[in-house]
Amino acid sequence: MKFTFLGTGTSQGVPVIACNCNICLSEESYNKRLRSSGLISSGSTNILIDSGPDLREQMLNCGVKKINAVLITHEHNDHIIGLDDLRPFIFLSKDRELPLYGMPRVLNEIKSRFSYAFYENPYPGAPRFSTHPLEFNLPMSIGEIEFSMIPVMHGELLIAGYRFKNFAYITDCKSLSRETIESLESIETLVISALRLKDHHSHMTLDESLEIIEKIKPQKAFITHISHLMGDINKLKHKLPEGVEFAYDGLALDL
Ligand SMILES: [Zn+2]
Ligand SMILES: [Zn+2]
Ligand SMILES: [Zn+2]
Repeated sequence: MKFTFLGTGTSQGVPVIACNCNICLSEESYNKRLRSSGLISSGSTNILIDSGPDLREQMLNCGVKKINAVLITHEHNDHIIGLDDLRPFIFLSKDRELPLYGMPRVLNEIKSRFSYAFYENPYPGAPRFSTHPLEFNLPMSIGEIEFSMIPVMHGELLIAGYRFKNFAYITDCKSLSRETIESLESIETLVISALRLKDHHSHMTLDESLEIIEKIKPQKAFITHISHLMGDINKLKHKLPEGVEFAYDGLALDL
């Protein structure tokens, strides 16, 4: 199984439009982050996690020719607004319909935000999706890939993370229940979000994220959904324990 970080930035991306901070003005590629999304592949199966505003560029960058399904973490714009740009895959697929998986509330929100994709007689050229509500912690499979949905608190909002055997992808996290932390203790590789250094009502700071990593103790952890307010990650690297790294766009992990 292979996982690729398609984007590792927070909702506005990095650089932020019209921002004059050192990070946004930096020419370094590690200071450029598309909106957070990932691709998990095994054999002929490709599953996308989230489909944000940078979806088109991300698909052109990674060169993938087929998407079997999209797992949605939650309904915030930076995680779903690129769904319409998945049309080329839908037109090429024999089902002419792309399966979306996630929490029932999130799928209902997608049905209302992209209502035209669910009309009985759609405009020719509209995307078509099928929706597949999931229950937390229930084993599922799509093609060659087995996974389960895990509960994550994004401030007051319950959202989804995803576990694939020994790998877990958790974004937009503010807290995890003790049961979820315990259930993740056997994983080898963890992707988890950290927004910035200062407190935020619905996202973890770097320190809060490192505390969760310390509790779960994966062999490797990668930090994603990073804001320009994190500052220069090269100056923060010394704060990271062994095995923990800041993710960057295009980073691929062999799992
Ligand atoms: Zn987000
Ligand atoms: Zn900035
Ligand atoms: Zn969010």
